[in-house]
Amino acid sequence: HRDQDPDNSIRLTDTDAAVARLSAAQKQYFHDPFIKYFVPRAHLQPPRPPLINVGTFVRSTAIDNLVENWLLSSERAGQRCQIVSFGSGSDTRFWRIAAGPHKDTIAKYIEIDFPEITSKKALAIRKSDILSQGLGDSADILLCNGGTTLHSPVYHLLSVDLRLPPATTLESVLISPSPNSTTGSLLSVNLPTLLLFECVLVYMSPSASSALLRWFVKYFSSSTEQSVLGSVVYEMFGLGDAFGRVMVNNLRARRISLPGVEPYPNIQSLPSRFLDAGFTTGFGLNLREIREGYIDPAELKRISTLEMLDEVEELELLLEHYAISWGVFSTSPDLNTWEEW
Ligand code: SAM
Repeated sequence: HRDQDPDNSIRLTDTDAAVARLSAAQKQYFHDPFIKYFVPRAHLQPPRPPLINVGTFVRSTAIDNLVENWLLSSERAGQRCQIVSFGSGSDTRFWRIAAGPHKDTIAKYIEIDFPEITSKKALAIRKSDILSQGLGDSADILLCNGGTTLHSPVYHLLSVDLRLPPATTLESVLISPSPNSTTGSLLSVNLPTLLLFECVLVYMSPSASSALLRWFVKYFSSSTEQSVLGSVVYEMFGLGDAFGRVMVNNLRARRISLPGVEPYPNIQSLPSRFLDAGFTTGFGLNLREIREGYIDPAELKRISTLEMLDEVEELELLLEHYAISWGVFSTSPDLNTWEEW
């Protein structure tokens, strides 16, 4: 029975994330013309509460800022870069970048999720001209492995269970040549590379997520040129207090357990994930700090007019239990330019 499979509950969180994004886009919190193609019957979806819309706005704006800074620093260094998004679900970031000014900075954009999710995404891409056109010429789009993986010149969609040891799974798909290329491995070791973990590491044990980060550090250490690896993680944390326990109980009621949160009781503990895996630097901020100190006040003013928000205290508690942390591994101190927000 499908509901007996705990991974099915984890996969369903993709629908939550996509519906939240759709709701915030429909309410004008941000512009995302692509998300509607990933949500079945998008026009019939009821909006999410204002509290959730504001949270989605803060998270999305913060990650967009970090990604944009990464792209700008690659451009300043005169290089193109690679982005790998883990547990990418129905994320639209690739299409948003492809429609914007940094399109040509992306050499490769790789998304990874369970096969049930990647096949759904590949189907949505095939059904939508807008999404397909974002990948280039239709003759260059290849569906493989029974429709669970998709390759195009820049964008690649791969299915891997990220809990498995990277050397047995991820390595073979990232280091083998891509089916639509005659040269080199899918992931180049010589290009600046950004790893995105948006709401996925909490569903894995700390040892599995640490193995993933370590694998990348090891791979990029083998670069013959100077290399830079960046990583951004968005996750819930600090679930030991009263509000956190309510969050955990809500998830348990949906059969979702969170093996990845225990070692991160507070914001100070988050950067250790990067440092322990061999990264050179690590930083972390909770969403409340980000909302108060890092988002354009004019934007905050604009979104405050979109809907009535009564639960101000609840919003602050919620934002205090989500964090964005980021870190850099670089083989040369000169390359380590991504410390600024
Ligand atoms: N990153 C997307 C976003 O922020 O919109 C989706 C987030 S959703 C909450 C979590 C995603 O991680 C789901 O699509 C789920 O299938 C994926 N995921 C969780 N554990 C995974 C694993 N072990 N291997 C591959 N994907 C996984």
